[in-house]
Amino acid sequence: MSSNAACDPAGSDPLLTLDQAQERLQAHLAPLTETERVGVRGREALGRVLAQDLVAPIASPPFDNSAMDGYAVRSEDTVSPGVTRLAVIGTAWAGRPYAGTVGPGECVRIFTGAVIPMGADAVVIQEAVAAGRDAIEVAGPIPSGAWVRAAGRDLAAGQCALPAGKRLSAIDLGLIASMGIPRLAVLRRVRVGLLSTGDELTPPGAALQPGAIYDSNRVAISALLQPLPVVLSDLGVCPDDPETLRRTLHEASTWNDVILTIGGASVGDADHVVPTLREIGRINFWKIAMKPGKPFLHGRIGGCHVFGLPGNPASALVACQQLVRPGLLRLAGALPEPPLRLPAVCVKALRKSTDRMEFQRGIYRLEPDGTLTVAAVGGQDADRLAAFSAANCFIVLPAENRGTGVGDRVLIEPFTSTG
Ligand code: AMP
Ligand code: MG
Repeated sequence: MSSNAACDPAGSDPLLTLDQAQERLQAHLAPLTETERVGVRGREALGRVLAQDLVAPIASPPFDNSAMDGYAVRSEDTVSPGVTRLAVIGTAWAGRPYAGTVGPGECVRIFTGAVIPMGADAVVIQEAVAAGRDAIEVAGPIPSGAWVRAAGRDLAAGQCALPAGKRLSAIDLGLIASMGIPRLAVLRRVRVGLLSTGDELTPPGAALQPGAIYDSNRVAISALLQPLPVVLSDLGVCPDDPETLRRTLHEASTWNDVILTIGGASVGDADHVVPTLREIGRINFWKIAMKPGKPFLHGRIGGCHVFGLPGNPASALVACQQLVRPGLLRLAGALPEPPLRLPAVCVKALRKSTDRMEFQRGIYRLEPDGTLTVAAVGGQDADRLAAFSAANCFIVLPAENRGTGVGDRVLIEPFTSTG
């Protein structure tokens, strides 16, 4: 039932930095260990976390084969400089190897992907020969290994093809299929319950009562988490009533790995998440030196983790991206996926008024000379979702930054890389 005094805003201690909060989360969250088997073909495997190192059962490519359409030759037959005449003794097709052996003065017509016939050690592309009915003329020399894709050059049999913890991409699934593996072991998905809190929140589609607003965060956050290896349960909206919140959180904690609350995480009289958690669970940390997203909290109810997001849309989304996402990936057993940050040149001055790290919303573009430039969108207040929607990146300003001038370099985090 105790909170951590070091980050309790009631005390005068400094807030946790984002780095410290991320480190504490990584240390606190133990990856799930239960696995399940999924087919490589279906939708089940995409984005899932590989449970064990995947060792290549066969080499890739499995045999020496031709990279081009042409003729398989013995390099020693070709002379330098000069033209050699070779008899064409057969054809090697992809999937239909030539069964014989290429002898001196001979060659085999070959197509891309076909096995290099015995005796041959190089391929001459068809554009480089003068081809007759039964013979070709080749200008030498042809080096041994020319246009040959050697067995195992991409992957040797027995080599680790993908490490445990890899979140499987479309390319990874192709690689697994290329090794003939139909099913694989992945970690089970993290069960996440998503709960909005607030008397004012109304589901889209219903009529707005005086003073009410639509619940946009639950829609945005669940979309943001969609690509992660999670099973999301929509827990709806909890009114600003401590008793209902206590019951809802307690019940949801019995069947979820994580409860993600939205709103009610500050210190107002209607903010019940923190006191409720102190009562029925415990707080690991609360409040981060970042803007937006300061009132983020992490705690537990029994074995269930609670991530508390602030209610303002930009605060909720930034905290979700910077803290919840890496936390869920850690729980899911995935290897860390640091966000892509790129240097960009400011085309407008940036104002920074806090001593916290800031994630301003910006628009970056690639200039014709190859430089990335960026400008903040107007409307940086945390409630301004339309301004956020017009942006295509975060401008990541460290705590010590005191604003930037035109021409200064900053780091940006493009939205596309953070999904
Ligand atoms: P809170 O963190 O509960 O104090 O909420 C801060 C601000 O965010 C208030 O203006 C709330 O109305 C708004 N807010 C809280 N939850 C949501 C939500 N799910 N969707 C949209 N706005 C919200
Ligand atoms: Mg509220």
